Amino acid sequence: MNTIKLYDKTFAKSITNEEINKEIKRVAAAINRDYAGKRPVLLGVLNGCFMFAAELLKNLEIECEISFVKLSSYQGTNSTGVVREVLGLTESIAGRDVIIIEDIVDTGYTMQNMLETLGTREPASIEIASLFLKPARLKVPVDVKYSVFTIPDRFIVGFGLDYDGLGRNLPDIYDVAE
Ligand code: 5GP
Ligand code: MG
Repeated sequence: MNTIKLYDKTFAKSITNEEINKEIKRVAAAINRDYAGKRPVLLGVLNGCFMFAAELLKNLEIECEISFVKLSSYQGTNSTGVVREVLGLTESIAGRDVIIIEDIVDTGYTMQNMLETLGTREPASIEIASLFLKPARLKVPVDVKYSVFTIPDRFIVGFGLDYDGLGRNLPDIYDVAE
């Protein structure tokens, strides 16, 4: 089945689970190289990151820790531009190499806000790993060091990403149909 319906919208399959996992392996290899001998703490941004975080972690061979934070700024298919605070970060990241794990960087406001918030906690370094990046949508300069896919300005679901709560369970990625 190559199209699905969620609420009022139809979505067409665009990236298969095999392709996703293959590209995540490529990014994991880069992290393994760049953080050899270090012990980064990966910081997953819930809810959207959970599948990406799991697949990425399975491919990391370096010593690493993972923790999750929650923040949300998205309603339906339009970014509200309203960024909420970072919830759930109880452990210290002072002196640590932090890698944020995000599902998708769209306008960049969420990641800009995260970098500012985490920056006040004196980490040794912070980088971003994002499953998707929509360069055409970026409103603020955000440096995504580990980007798995660069995609056009289209709303996607699957592999952890949702449309109003649905679609996170899909193993493949689907693009909204025009
Ligand atoms: P930003 O602050 O960069 O505009 O928003 C990033 C957040 O918006 C992502 O973490 C994600 O939750 C949501 N988002 C942006 N684009 C999409 C998309 O195409 N599909 C889905 N499901 N969520 C998106
Ligand atoms: Mg997100």
